[in-house]
This record gives sequence, C-alpha cells and structure tokens, in this order.
Amino acid sequence: MIWRNVGNSLMALSVIMALMGWSRVETPSEQMLNYVHQFQQIQIDIRECNVSPDSAARAFQATMRNIQSVLPLLDSCRDDAANRFVYPLRGYLPRYSIGGNGRGFRAKGFDLFDADARGSHPAHDLFIRDGNQDNLDDHMCLPVDLLSFSQGVVLATDTTWQPESELRGGNFVWVYDPCLNGLFYYAHNSRVVVQPGQWVQSGQKLGEIGRTGLNAYKGRSPTHVHMMFLRLDSSYLPQPENPLAWLREAEVKEW
Ligand SMILES: [Zn+2]
Repeated sequence: MIWRNVGNSLMALSVIMALMGWSRVETPSEQMLNYVHQFQQIQIDIRECNVSPDSAARAFQATMRNIQSVLPLLDSCRDDAANRFVYPLRGYLPRYSIGGNGRGFRAKGFDLFDADARGSHPAHDLFIRDGNQDNLDDHMCLPVDLLSFSQGVVLATDTTWQPESELRGGNFVWVYDPCLNGLFYYAHNSRVVVQPGQWVQSGQKLGEIGRTGLNAYKGRSPTHVHMMFLRLDSSYLPQPENPLAWLREAEVKEW
C-alpha cells in the first residue's frame, strides 16, 4: 500500500513536471550531437544563402563555444606523442604530393560565411598519382586513404555529391581539434567513412581521395584532397592558418 502511494506520488510528480515544461537534462553526448547538427545546418544555410554572413558568423560563434564547452579538457593535449600529425595521404611523401611545392596557400579575401566570396585558397591541395582519373593510385591500383591529420570530433560530412551538383567541396569532412582549437576541412573525397559526432584519432581513416566537387570533377583537375585549417580566435571566429610546416613534418603511414 505504501509503495503504491509512493508510485502514485512519483507519477503525479512527473505529470506536474511535464505540465510545467521541465524535461530531463541532456547528457554531454546528446548535447554534442545537437551542436554538431547546428554546425551542419550553418554550413547548409551559408551554401544556400539562407542567412546573411553576419548572422551565420554569430551562429557559428555560439555553436563553437558550445562544442568547446562540452568537450572535456583532454590530457592528451599535453602529450606530444598523442598529438602527432599524420600526413593525410596514406603512402605518400609530403615533398612529392603537396601542390605547387607549398605555394598554393592564399588566405586573402577568405570568408567562411559568405558563399559569394571567391579568389582565396586558404588551403593546400595534396595530389595522388592518378593519370587516368579513376580515383586509384596508378602503381598500387588501390584507392588512397584519407587519414585524419590530427585528433578531434567530426562535425560535418557530405556523402551525397552527384556529378550534376554545382557544389564545389564535393564529399567533405570537417574535424574540430580541441587541442589546437581549430577546424580541419578535407574536400573532394570519393568516399567518407566517418559520422558527425564521432571522435577520431590522428591517422584514422576518414575516407578515400576522389574527384567530387564542381571543379575537382573536371578533366583539367588532377585528383587531390583540398585541406584547410581554420584556427578559432578568442571570439570563436575562424582564421585561416597555413599548416605547411606541419604537413612537411607529419608522420607518413605506409600502405
Ligand atoms: Zn584546393
């Protein structure tokens, strides 16, 4: 009898809580998935010109502040071995695959929040041996794995690109590294094998190098990954930074 009363009381309490609009507190992983979803939505809104550059920037700042707040401060941030960089092309040496010998980086005029901003290239293109443009390494006859340059959480992916699409990034991956407080963007992949919200280690496979994206698909474009690094400043706004020195020193993973 007592237990039935307790049960009835609990049920009444939960009905009252529901009526008053109280809900249970989200777990950190649920919060993270919400923020990851917001990050993806901001990219879509920018691309489709649904928002002004100013409001996209404000939404980005709030989302990145939230993402940083739910990630625990990592012990591995202080551990150099765990923070080592891995060259994004498996089996390739930086000196033979970084486009233009590292001179391809042009940050001037870049604006992540303005879909019409053109002319900048705050990135490096890393090329594979693919003379016949079939996405396979010409010597190994295998796809080339895209490896995560550093550790972090996957914030967004696109896996839906089609040759008719006007979108330039093709199948892309965004990874946020809380130790560097920055974002890595990898574009033009043939495949993406990670999911938004997933934690990746440096050297973990993110996808395979490909030719997706409006220009990357054209015959004049040799097969490559476009890799960009954006450091967040004290206002959580993204500032392009040149990762060339890091790329040259990165560990190379064998086939
Ligand atoms: Zn590029």
